[in-house]
Amino acid sequence: MGLNSTRAEAERGILLTTVEKMTRWAQKSSVWPATFGLACCAIEMMSVTSSRYDIARFGSEAFRASPRQADLMIVAGRVSQKMAPVLRTIWEQMPEPKWVISMGACASSGGVFDNYAIIQGVDHVVPVDVYVPGCPPSPDALMFGILKLREKIQMGLPPKYLELAQEGRRTS
Ligand code: SF4
Repeated sequence: MGLNSTRAEAERGILLTTVEKMTRWAQKSSVWPATFGLACCAIEMMSVTSSRYDIARFGSEAFRASPRQADLMIVAGRVSQKMAPVLRTIWEQMPEPKWVISMGACASSGGVFDNYAIIQGVDHVVPVDVYVPGCPPSPDALMFGILKLREKIQMGLPPKYLELAQEGRRTS
């Protein structure tokens, strides 16, 4: 289609795109988090649903109690050795495509809990797409992380677990 005819279509209020771009737009506009608050970071995570931060603007206010209805796991807080297999099972129960945000120092690296009971980074358990630094990260920081994830989805970049699989590497 030539430039002139594209302009003519736009002037008539018609938008042209591809099915792939449309799908990505729909996916990034309705990323539903699974509830996975594990410690103090979870309080900041909960704040993003309040009217002050209003994560509903980005279609992600629907925190789901069932992994079957969620495509984003926000790991908010320290991950204990006992919790790790539970977290992994819940991640496996989420339908594909799915993404993981590691929220805060504890989830990303164990934080101040450098001991035998705490996993030193949730990426030892599940593949992480976005790391949000801080102790705790502010709600704004988490929202910035979600916006980065949306950019990744819109660009068509694969979730981390697919990226690892394409490289022939294990997902944990
Ligand atoms: S990073 Fe800080 S606020 Fe978050 S769970 Fe760890 S100690 Fe708590």
